[in-house]
Amino acid sequence: MKEIDWANLSFGYMKTDYNVRCYYRDGKWGELELCSEETLNIHMAATCLHYGQEAFEGLKAYRGKDGKIRIFRPDANAERLQSTCRGILMPELPTEKFCEAMKMVVKANERFIPPYESGAALYIRPLLIGTGAQVGVHPASEYMFVVFVTPVGPYFKGGFATNPYVIIRQFDRAAPLGTGTYKVGGNYAASLRANKMAHDAGYASEFYLDAKEKKYIDECGAANFFGIKDNTYITPLSTSILPSITNRSLMQLAEDMGLKVERRPIPEEELSTFEEAGACGTAAVISPIQRIDDLENNKSYVISKDGKPGPISEKLYNKLRAIQYGDEPDVHNWVMVLD
Ligand SMILES: *Cc1c(COP(=O)(O)O)cnc(C)c1O
Repeated sequence: MKEIDWANLSFGYMKTDYNVRCYYRDGKWGELELCSEETLNIHMAATCLHYGQEAFEGLKAYRGKDGKIRIFRPDANAERLQSTCRGILMPELPTEKFCEAMKMVVKANERFIPPYESGAALYIRPLLIGTGAQVGVHPASEYMFVVFVTPVGPYFKGGFATNPYVIIRQFDRAAPLGTGTYKVGGNYAASLRANKMAHDAGYASEFYLDAKEKKYIDECGAANFFGIKDNTYITPLSTSILPSITNRSLMQLAEDMGLKVERRPIPEEELSTFEEAGACGTAAVISPIQRIDDLENNKSYVISKDGKPGPISEKLYNKLRAIQYGDEPDVHNWVMVLD
């Protein structure tokens, strides 16, 4: 194998040796199968292609200083996938089977797990799709679960840094009683235009307000939002945001550090009061926010006056990464260590 420049990998697809598949037929899930084929052979009338019966997940495996391989909270991803399945009428994959598949795919591709020193990780992408043919709008009777991996570089190539975000009012990612709480591809299709507008204008990502009133903070692109002030970690309560496992973990760590944690609607104007703020998700853990512009209202909420990440964000970031890589004890039992 050609030497991989781990530290400079982007968030892209790299072919690895194996993926793992599991089929749902006749009302039950089959056995996990190791596969070296990159393509899927599915019916052209599969429901995933026409009616968006598609769910995905995203998590990472890390190689520790001790050489051990750790997967971060796979049981939480399994449960979130089950919630998505209930949301779009797909059969739920049991947690045990999901975690077994994670182990199997990571072990089979062990040579693609980046070394500890690189700060890179192995990204794991589980996918569950309706494969049964259907022309009328109905859930499929057959499904396929696939999980592949790809090594990804450290998110911050030049060190932990802040980024500017922009509120987009023309488009909504998800409706209040829609599929925003489920990890489905349709939400991403709905976000592509807003995301392109933000990138074209030089921002790290788009920022969504709640779709109904356009008054409260919803999400930061495909990441959750949190703000910090008065020793309190504050994150939005909304019926259209995706429950981020990173956010859930950060809330716990914030509490462990003696911060108060609040989950409540956050009005846009409150942005001007935060001492620190960030976007959080598996890709970056935390992407600290420099400022948030509301171009239509001629407003700019500057969060970081000196342009640097705040001390609490940095502490939370370091703490979570240390647990993921096994540098610090895993007191909450989040990590699955491979044997
Ligand atoms: C996946 C995702 C997140 C982040 O979730 P994590 O579990 O922390 O990776 C946030 N928002 C959206 C819309 C997502 O799809």
